[in-house]
Amino acid sequence: MEEIHAPLSDQAALAESQHCLYCYDAPCIHACPTGIDVPTFIKRIANGDAAGAAKTILTANILGASCSRVCPTEVLCEGACVLSHEYEPIQIGLLQRYATDYVTARGIFVLDAPAEATGFHVAIVGAGPAGLGCAADLASLGHHVVILEKEVEAGGLNTRGVAYYKMKPRVSLDEVRLVESLGVEIRTGVNVGTDLTAADLLSQYDAIFVAIGLGHESELGIPGEVGAGVRSALDFIRDIHEMPLESVSIGKTVLVIGGGNTAIDAVSQAKRLGATFATLAYRRKEDQMSAYAFEVALARATDCRMIFEAKPVEVVRHGNGGLAGVKFIHASSGKEWIEPCDQLLLAIGQPKQDHFLKSLFPSLQLDARGCVVTDPLTGRTSLHKVFAGGDCANGGMEVVNAVGEGKKAAMAIHHMLTGKTAAPKSQNSRCGIAHPAAGAGLWNPIRSATH
Ligand code: SF4
Repeated sequence: MEEIHAPLSDQAALAESQHCLYCYDAPCIHACPTGIDVPTFIKRIANGDAAGAAKTILTANILGASCSRVCPTEVLCEGACVLSHEYEPIQIGLLQRYATDYVTARGIFVLDAPAEATGFHVAIVGAGPAGLGCAADLASLGHHVVILEKEVEAGGLNTRGVAYYKMKPRVSLDEVRLVESLGVEIRTGVNVGTDLTAADLLSQYDAIFVAIGLGHESELGIPGEVGAGVRSALDFIRDIHEMPLESVSIGKTVLVIGGGNTAIDAVSQAKRLGATFATLAYRRKEDQMSAYAFEVALARATDCRMIFEAKPVEVVRHGNGGLAGVKFIHASSGKEWIEPCDQLLLAIGQPKQDHFLKSLFPSLQLDARGCVVTDPLTGRTSLHKVFAGGDCANGGMEVVNAVGEGKKAAMAIHHMLTGKTAAPKSQNSRCGIAHPAAGAGLWNPIRSATH
């Protein structure tokens, strides 16, 4: 159950960093929703300055440590690396993890001290990635920030909703402490709407950022679903984080229904924890899965089985009510069959929180999906001084997208409150060295022989 990618050693990080071309107008920066200055942090590692590298990363993305583990780097920064066209991309994710782990392990605080207090107060509803990203930038600009979180722990799904082999809760909780160290107050166990009304928020705070994420796992809505042996994949993953591993209930024949990354996490995790058979069933074709191809490959590599075009129609039970399996109908052939299982995990998506949002802010504009309508550049909503970002606005994207939306809203809130435009919390000012695609001929292909 160790993290799937081993961390880089000092020597490996140094060697890898020296292959970076330090590109002018580097595409890896543009591919990052938080605009981390990738070549600069890599250059700092190459110079033996891991703490400086961490400062570059964390200034742009306060969740840089968790993003280095859960980001689909293959389709973001590493996918954009110029070296990926003909050779292997720089291992940006592993280098980012190396630098952020370096300062966390040594207790080194690398961020600049927050600006002088402005006297403005901002409330953030939700302590997930969007809320934390927004809070960090607002606090560093001198605003007093209070995050209101209904769960007992902050961090959102990063803390208890990611497969154990990808990231341990410790990484997320360390990031929460980092945000608090900027002066952000996090109040957990607070139910906005009951403990604190929208009227309270609007009267007590100068701005509000709504970052409530999505609701709990959706249900199939088929006969037999309610009963023993059936649970949400997110609850299953949460148990793995919170209980001794030997106490987590694992079936011998585990069936996971869903086609996203949570489904992949659940089926891989079940197999790694001892299920004899672990099967993922998805109602559409493989190329229509929302899970990334490399995640699917990872599950297959751990002997997980996949069945496609499998539409569940009934959860089949024994006479005593015990779980027997799931009856499916094939989407193309119409053939029916029963897939036996003694544990069924549902990962069919999280519902939008439109009812809650409407009860909190009746005139808040939502789109047809139930997401908050926001200005994409600022996170402004239809309500004065109310901003939103993360999954409740984008419908469910990556952690790094949520952090990026939180940062954009922070800049917009700062401008609304002070009339000033803050410099983005990332820099991209280096002497440029053109990459091979520009024909500069500075690149040494010898690197390819080392990989
Ligand atoms: Fe980014 Fe260029 Fe370095 Fe790749 S080689 S990581 S694109 S700066």
